[in-house]
Amino acid sequence: MRHFGNYYYYKTNNPECKELIEKIINRYGLNIGLDMHQRIYIVDDNFVSNKVKHLLAIQGDIGQTVKVGLFTGLREDEIIYIHNKELCSNLGGCSCNKLHTVTKPNGLTVIVINWFRGHKKCYFTILPTIMWEQFRNIPNFPHVDIDIAHKLTKKKANLMFVELRKLHYNIMRRSMDMNEADILAGRAKSVSAKHYAMYELDKLRGICSGMEKIWTKYL
Ligand SMILES: [Zn+2]
Repeated sequence: MRHFGNYYYYKTNNPECKELIEKIINRYGLNIGLDMHQRIYIVDDNFVSNKVKHLLAIQGDIGQTVKVGLFTGLREDEIIYIHNKELCSNLGGCSCNKLHTVTKPNGLTVIVINWFRGHKKCYFTILPTIMWEQFRNIPNFPHVDIDIAHKLTKKKANLMFVELRKLHYNIMRRSMDMNEADILAGRAKSVSAKHYAMYELDKLRGICSGMEKIWTKYL
């Protein structure tokens, strides 16, 4: 149901049409009870804290995979992509197709990803530097690792691995404005939003310090 708006955008190439369809769906509650993944958007702070606590208690390699899922908010194929993709050391506005990372003094690393598949967009993510380095040091990171992590998140926190992305968005929304959280989730639509994500480093600094506050609150 939540893709109907996108579908009409695709059919008509008219963003207003997409908005109208989404408004109709929301106005008449047509999506109520259909999209179970939405449910963690409307929960209280204790729910989120408890889920995060259970997730972070998972130890070992699988715990590491869970943390990467939770802290990056990336989709599964994006997590595998950032593990395997070669790093580029040129940070001067390089436009090659490798990954570019910026290490911040506050212990966070911004990973510029720029990976787009149809309407799935991924501009960048931000991870604690230590976590990023540990993740990159794993020699092999196959899809099956995420499947195992999924079984554990279900068992320990009653969450599917794909729901870590929703949880991440929920947590980000608590300290960022909607535009920033949407860019982080790859939902930025306009050219200006893309520009803002990739070039406005002051804004990125704001996002980073916001994230630092959030994660220290939960860790
Ligand atoms: Zn490059």
